[in-house]
Amino acid sequence: MSAEIVSNPTSLTGDLDHKLDRSVVEQIVRQLVSNNGTMDPIAAQQSTQLSTADGLTPYHNGQPDLIVNVSARHIHLSDRDVEILFGPGHTLTPMKWLYQDGYYAAEETLMVVGPRKRMLPNVRVLGPTRSASQMELAYTDAVQLGLDIPVRHSGDIAGTPGRVLVGPAGVVHLDEGVIRAARHVHMNTADLSYYGVEDGEMMDLRIESPACSMILEDLKVRADDAVKLEVHIDTDEGNACNLAAASGFELMKKQPCACQNH
Ligand SMILES: [Zn+2]
Repeated sequence: MSAEIVSNPTSLTGDLDHKLDRSVVEQIVRQLVSNNGTMDPIAAQQSTQLSTADGLTPYHNGQPDLIVNVSARHIHLSDRDVEILFGPGHTLTPMKWLYQDGYYAAEETLMVVGPRKRMLPNVRVLGPTRSASQMELAYTDAVQLGLDIPVRHSGDIAGTPGRVLVGPAGVVHLDEGVIRAARHVHMNTADLSYYGVEDGEMMDLRIESPACSMILEDLKVRADDAVKLEVHIDTDEGNACNLAAASGFELMKKQPCACQNH
């Protein structure tokens, strides 16, 4: 899945658990329940999607199920930070399973404090834990928090801003790790073959949506044989195309520019 984890999402070597970790991330937390207890419409849509038992992308008539999900603002935590924030011996409690097998939105949320007393009161934690904590926000989240944060792929956090995370049992000062997660698509080997692309390549996604159709460019392919085909975009991108009302998606290998200037 997405790799939001720390470091090198491209390697297909190493032990499976570690790979899963890295790839994790990005998932969708749209499933978040908002402050007033109502469900985000995007989350509601997502909740209808089912996972397969074997972790592979479902194919029908030779075509893969192309799942496009919003990855709402969320936090990845290390085991150490979970214990600091929620108490000694605490482990995350799955609240909602995500499309990728083994990944979940946890019951736990954190308050994130920004400059000049700005804050986000309850940012969802995603599990499982990782080797390093990281927070992924949409641009509008960053504005609300008063931060200027870079667009990065998960795990690529060197030089990014940090922030203060406040939990019921303690506080963690992240020195770095607050990013806007760059759009991307998770693929396994069969999916790579279907689209004729390689790990790290860029693709375009056309979204058919009433009065809001659009093409998102520069989706990075993140290959991992433990994942199912899934595009992750952020809340701003999902809102721009009214993803909840989208009627179709087309994922395309990026074409060279036809003009004479590139
Ligand atoms: Zn992802």
